[in-house]
Amino acid sequence: MEKAFAGKVALVTGGSRGIGQACVEALAKGGAEVVFTYRHNETAAEQTTAAAKAHGGRVIPLKCDSADTAQVNQTVEQVIATFEQLDILVLNAGITKDQYLMLMSEEEFAQVLDTNLVGAFRFAKAACRPMMTRRAGTIITVSSVAALFGIAGQTNYCASKGGLVAFTQAMAAELSPKGIRVNAVAPGFIETDMTARMPRKIKLEAKQRILAGRFGTPQEVAGVVAFLASDAAEYIIGQTLVVDGGLTSTVA
Ligand code: NAP
Repeated sequence: MEKAFAGKVALVTGGSRGIGQACVEALAKGGAEVVFTYRHNETAAEQTTAAAKAHGGRVIPLKCDSADTAQVNQTVEQVIATFEQLDILVLNAGITKDQYLMLMSEEEFAQVLDTNLVGAFRFAKAACRPMMTRRAGTIITVSSVAALFGIAGQTNYCASKGGLVAFTQAMAAELSPKGIRVNAVAPGFIETDMTARMPRKIKLEAKQRILAGRFGTPQEVAGVVAFLASDAAEYIIGQTLVVDGGLTSTVA
């Protein structure tokens, strides 16, 4: 059977764990050659590489901090030098540094924006030229339902994720005439290391508001990312697909 991403090259940021890891695996399973970045967790990067390689294609982990412009540029250059093309860019790397506004340092606010939003800008800027040259490619940003409603203690995170939705729409307007399709996913609560840190009481309250009655899995988000990256989503441009088990569909 023809694989959806045969002959395609994908770059996933923050692919060592969680949602990014599931994206690496879904794209590799679909036949893509996959490069992914991570910040410092070598062990997780090795595990992700081994699991994704089982699908047959090349899988290359690169240590690259999304908050470092030189490293980002070097990573994209390395992808092009190795494969001569980049077809799918998944801008997933993200962090939280929760704190109430009154107590939040400017550094905590800026660090979250720098990784989650400016990091996406750095990668998109570096990748759009080689994509434009071939008049082909797709970019998917990983936003969050935190872009859609306010969360106390997450002013930095909400600002970064809201910014990503607007950034995605503006990129779509600018890049679609050049043959590059841009969309976002907005996951709700997903079972990863990020949500494992949440207090139990907050998790239980959150679950009560989710129509599906449970947190999502990284694979459920990766499936939507893979769909957006595929030709089946060719007519979807500048959208934010919410993957939240119904969390934001009710006011309850
Ligand atoms: P996670 O389990 O904490 O994994 C984060 C991944 O990002 C890791 O691979 C980590 O690398 C990488 N990373 C973090 N900072 C980086 C940096 N500066 N440069 C390069 N890589 C970096 O997170 P997750 O839950 O899978 O979240 C992935 C994305 O989905 C994030 O953007 C997050 O905001 C978004 N999201 C998550 C949820 C959720 O409920 N989990 C909901 C909505 C949106 P290391 O392994 O080296 O640390």
